[in-house]
Amino acid sequence: MSNLGNLPPNILSKLSRDSNVIIESSKDFGKVVLEKFPDGVYFPTSVNDIIDLIKFSYDLSVPFHIAARGHGHSIRGQAMAQNGLIVEMNSLNNNNENCGIRIYSDSNLGFYADVGGEQLWIDVLNATIERDLAPVSWTDYLYLTVGGTLSNAGISGQTFRYGPQINNVLEMDVITGKGELVTCSKDMNSELFFAVLGGLGQFGIIIRARIVLQKAPKRVKWVRMLYDDFSKFTKDQEHLISIDGLDYVEGSLMLEQSSINNWRSSFFSPSNQTKIASLLSQNEIMYCLEMVKYYDDHTSNTIDEELKKLVKGLNYLPGFIFNKDTTFVEFLDRVRSGELELQSKGLWDVPHPWLNLFVPKSNIMDFNVAVFKDIILKQKKTTGSILVYPTCRKRYSHNLFRCTKYFAFAFKGFV
Ligand SMILES: Cc1cc2nc3c(=O)[nH]c(=O)nc-3n(C[C@H](O)[C@H](O)[C@H](O)COP(=O)(O)OP(=O)(O)OC[C@H]3O[C@@H](n4cnc5c(N)ncnc54)[C@H](O)[C@@H]3O)c2cc1C
Repeated sequence: MSNLGNLPPNILSKLSRDSNVIIESSKDFGKVVLEKFPDGVYFPTSVNDIIDLIKFSYDLSVPFHIAARGHGHSIRGQAMAQNGLIVEMNSLNNNNENCGIRIYSDSNLGFYADVGGEQLWIDVLNATIERDLAPVSWTDYLYLTVGGTLSNAGISGQTFRYGPQINNVLEMDVITGKGELVTCSKDMNSELFFAVLGGLGQFGIIIRARIVLQKAPKRVKWVRMLYDDFSKFTKDQEHLISIDGLDYVEGSLMLEQSSINNWRSSFFSPSNQTKIASLLSQNEIMYCLEMVKYYDDHTSNTIDEELKKLVKGLNYLPGFIFNKDTTFVEFLDRVRSGELELQSKGLWDVPHPWLNLFVPKSNIMDFNVAVFKDIILKQKKTTGSILVYPTCRKRYSHNLFRCTKYFAFAFKGFV
């Protein structure tokens, strides 16, 4: 315990060294990194509690390791703190004095929400939708904290249009490594602002983020189209993100051995599943383009016509286009039902060795041959989701885009 120094009573009173608590806070979704145990877990009830802790550590001759833990859905121990302390951010949530979720409108800024770093995105959605508002950029899964995704990027099918979540933050309150609470934005303490966004939790603890909101749509038209040719699939994806018409574009691989409806969302009806399975038995690998158009009461009469225009000229396999009409909230929270089903079968709490990559547009065809066909298809082992979709580099603030030079694809496996 010596590396923690002589902790004062105000810090000790919020600290647990119970081995069960330590084990619980040292778990993450990946279950790949298993033994990076901290010396204790800190449960702050106010922002000042976190300031006190960081200041105390900073003043030691050798500061100890401190990691904020959001919802622990990292995959490689990112929220762990071996021999240091984990700060459980959700314990802030019980205190009304902290930021919570507050919605404002301003003649300059438009609509925005001030959101505590500990808040889950599902709660941000539920709070904003009550006012017919919503953030513009999402992740596929919403049971992640605002601080957790803003420390990464927050990428999903809306990224081509609005940029990742880190592009849609106007301002933050951050506790720095010295224990100072600093407000930052692109114009104020901008170095800190751009370091913390996508900064993997290494530049400070996000206490409050000011998130851009827009008027929320009521419903969505959700379309999936199947391809047997990767070149046609990517050309159509690129075309769809280049036109100003859609709200979400993603895509995924379909393999003979994986289930057609998976944990990410149950989409295809039983009869369509049979039809797709028969196609897959001939092709072994297929590509599924997924797109969404939001609509409202005042566009409900024209949405079908608009969709027809959007898919006209696309090169999917004739007869293999499928539609679903659902609410905006159900669409955004689409992964939850799959999660609950896997949880009920004890299949959620298992290791998740995931890989997320940006691949330059210039190499995506080679990637299909070398990785999708020569490894994944040949091994016939992968049964999880493999996503592949384009994002537009111009949608990333130049201060935030550290990944690739031009156009990128994200590939995500779930084994
Ligand atoms: C089922 C599932 C689906 C996912 N889908 C997507 C997706 O579509 N798009 C996408 O971009 N990502 C996705 N992710 C990845 C996810 O966005 C990241 O793993 C995210 O970091 C998890 O958030 P968390 O609250 O669980 O963070 P944690 O795992 O608790 O923490 C992650 C990192 O953030 C730091 N951190 C946490 N809170 C704060 C804070 N307040 N201030 C500063 N640093 C902090 C931690 O120290 C750590 O380094 C998915 C993850 C899962 C499990």
